[in-house]
Amino acid sequence: MYQVFDEASTPAASSDRVEALLRELKKRRLKGFLVPHSDQHQNEFLPPSEERLAWLTGFTGSAGVAIVTASGSALFVDGRYILQAPEQVDTEIFEVLQIPKAKPSEWLKSKLVRNNAVGYDARLHTISEIERLTKSLGAAGIRLRALKDNPIDRIWGTDRPAPPQAEIFAQPLEFAGKGSGEKLIHVQMELVEAEHDAVLLTSPESICWLFNYRGGDIRHTPVALAHAIVPAKGRPTLFIDAEKVGEPMRDALKPFTDIAAPDELDAALTKLAKSGAKVRLDEGSASMHFANVLSAGGTKHVAGGDPCTLPKAIKTNAEQQGARSAQLRDGVAMARFLAWLDEVGETGRVDEVSAAIKLEEFRRETGQLKDISFDTIAASGPHGAIVHYRPTNDSKRVLDRNSLFLIDSGGQYTDGTTDVTRTVAVGKPTAEMKRHYGLVLRCHIAIASARFPEGSRGQDLDPFARGPLWAAGLDFDHGTGHGVGSYLSVHEGPQRISRLATEELESGMILSNEPGFYREGQYGIRLENLVLVRPAEKIDGGERKMLSFETLTLVPFDRRLIDPKQLMPWELDWLNDYHVRVREKLEPLIASEDRPWLRHATAPIR
Ligand code: ZN
Ligand code: ZN
Repeated sequence: MYQVFDEASTPAASSDRVEALLRELKKRRLKGFLVPHSDQHQNEFLPPSEERLAWLTGFTGSAGVAIVTASGSALFVDGRYILQAPEQVDTEIFEVLQIPKAKPSEWLKSKLVRNNAVGYDARLHTISEIERLTKSLGAAGIRLRALKDNPIDRIWGTDRPAPPQAEIFAQPLEFAGKGSGEKLIHVQMELVEAEHDAVLLTSPESICWLFNYRGGDIRHTPVALAHAIVPAKGRPTLFIDAEKVGEPMRDALKPFTDIAAPDELDAALTKLAKSGAKVRLDEGSASMHFANVLSAGGTKHVAGGDPCTLPKAIKTNAEQQGARSAQLRDGVAMARFLAWLDEVGETGRVDEVSAAIKLEEFRRETGQLKDISFDTIAASGPHGAIVHYRPTNDSKRVLDRNSLFLIDSGGQYTDGTTDVTRTVAVGKPTAEMKRHYGLVLRCHIAIASARFPEGSRGQDLDPFARGPLWAAGLDFDHGTGHGVGSYLSVHEGPQRISRLATEELESGMILSNEPGFYREGQYGIRLENLVLVRPAEKIDGGERKMLSFETLTLVPFDRRLIDPKQLMPWELDWLNDYHVRVREKLEPLIASEDRPWLRHATAPIR
């Protein structure tokens, strides 16, 4: 199984660990210390060796920061984890506070006094994060001090897992669609135009994309931990553990980059700084440590974006084709799962965990699953209203009769990454469930069938995904869509659809389309397909260049929840056309025993 359902939380150990940490702080004359959920690449999922926050507090969520001081400690989490965190940590030790309502800097000001120093591991915090915090604490005379070694690493004993050492492997040209040489020219041109001498790449996804390889250091995201310096002219250097690079990969990388050990990176940056080179860092993702290394070498970094982000987001034809193939395979797995669920969902023998296991099995039976793309959200009844709910053996619910079941999941395949959510009726849905489902479906269709001028940003489209809900006096509290990588991270930027999305959408980008509605304590509804941005078909009288979306995901919507009277005729046409496409694509690939289910699930709705 790629997903685990037992949460290894150890709150009982917190008391001793916090004591030991406080002793370390005292030695260094520090009054406080920051323990974020992050590693030096700002990865979304962390390798176990980097789970310092969980080790110290017991909290296993994917975002949060603890602050330990002699006069009390706190754990800051966002709204997603405000129920989970107090259950996992010893609240006698950690006060659990919700950001952004509570602010770490304000809390620190209430605990410390002028001239107190707070330590942090400069590798684990981004430049912008530290700049913000320095400013806010500085006003109260509290100083932030970057530490050379992390005191937690000093006290975390023999039970600390070893850092991951998975071997990297090639992402073949037939899937990548563009060679490293071509990608490098693009990145170096951008540096030349900006008059920057070099860029330090810290995002493992960017480096995987640039050099056309993938790795296995992190759960659910096929990347390797590495850094790279790309100069405006000349050869890049890839800083990666030698053990991760086998002979064939060494040969494959040779034409494009030198390879060096990770501990040579600081010296290389210092050398650049001493020569006065303008080195670009992405302040939103590069750690403060690198800014400090450059300053110590005598030259301040220049701020600028990661030059790989945008070209990585615009998929090549091969990647677009790969995404379609991956969706066919994933659609078969999902269809088999939904057919299975229809048969056994109401028996009282299926729970959230067994459903997630079954779905992973169907994905594995495609024979090409490399990993799941994130931990499956399988949520029955009221759990569906918890947007980021993840079932565990402690939390799981049996699928209730006459309830809604929400399942959000995805797969990693060599040719593409998938992410799909369906909400299905178990037993008989209420009229209100159907009404809310219909509204979310209309929001989904509004995005799927949108036509919009070139240059539109995600925030211009976001209202499309809310119009029908707004008209009914309802809304949902998450973005409408995120970018998706190509056999990379299931969450990638810069493309997204939300109120805050200022990046222009460009042909070739892949995004999710996932409006939802959540009734706390009762149910959640979310309908998610992946879409590809592409030029819109020309229409008579049209003058401007328009873009549109091609829906990539091929999975039926639950007809038991659809009241055709709720949809406009054109929306019903969209739905029926989509179902015809799903049937035509999946039918040849699905076993004969599942065909009747597929035919019924995709039959026209009138
Ligand atoms: Zn999803
Ligand atoms: Zn998604």
